[in-house]
Amino acid sequence: PLYQKAHYLKSAPNLSHCPEDQGYEVAFAGRSNAGKSSALNVICSQKSLARTSKTPGRTQMINYFQLDEQRFLIDLPGYGFAKVNVNVKRVWEAGLSDYIEQRQALKGLVLMMDVRHPLQPLDVMMLDWCNELELPIHVLLTKADKLSRNQANQAWLQLNKHLQDKYPLASAQLFSSLNKQGLEQAWQKLDSWFDY
Ligand code: GDP
Repeated sequence: PLYQKAHYLKSAPNLSHCPEDQGYEVAFAGRSNAGKSSALNVICSQKSLARTSKTPGRTQMINYFQLDEQRFLIDLPGYGFAKVNVNVKRVWEAGLSDYIEQRQALKGLVLMMDVRHPLQPLDVMMLDWCNELELPIHVLLTKADKLSRNQANQAWLQLNKHLQDKYPLASAQLFSSLNKQGLEQAWQKLDSWFDY
């Protein structure tokens, strides 16, 4: 019920425009096309919640969705835009690292990775940042429906092994927005971060 209450609050171009740093925030990040918007929509049981984040002008913003007085879901800009120039990338990286580093309200980061192509360079960068800053991270291996059950489990096991070795605060699960595989598990993780 908490997640169904999600509604768009505001968009901020950078940390200084974010709402007051209070309460609980959980941020969603991932490469463009990894399935972040679809996952947010399914998690919040809404058809087009995260479309708000894809409105022109908002794609490079920190988009805030409010759950209740104290709890917020944050849709971070998708990354992996190959054609963007180096300066734009640098500004984006700086903004994101500022946010992860400084935001007290931030309790955890949900990282979307396509189950068929996990651990791309920028995914690893996110894992490294969060690890350094001791921010818990939960990976949704998205589009699990695109693989057989066996293949998907293999991908999950392989990622887990990698995480266990290097990232003690990270966890991972399979997820599909198409058939809602893993939805309960994702809710449980969010509940724990939101202290709900
Ligand atoms: P975003 O750029 O990370 O927000 O990604 P989107 O949520 O817009 O999804 C990118 C594409 O992948 C779209 O064509 C979606 O329909 C598709 N997609 C997203 N999630 C799933 C999923 O769980 N299963 C399948 N089969 N396709 C998905």
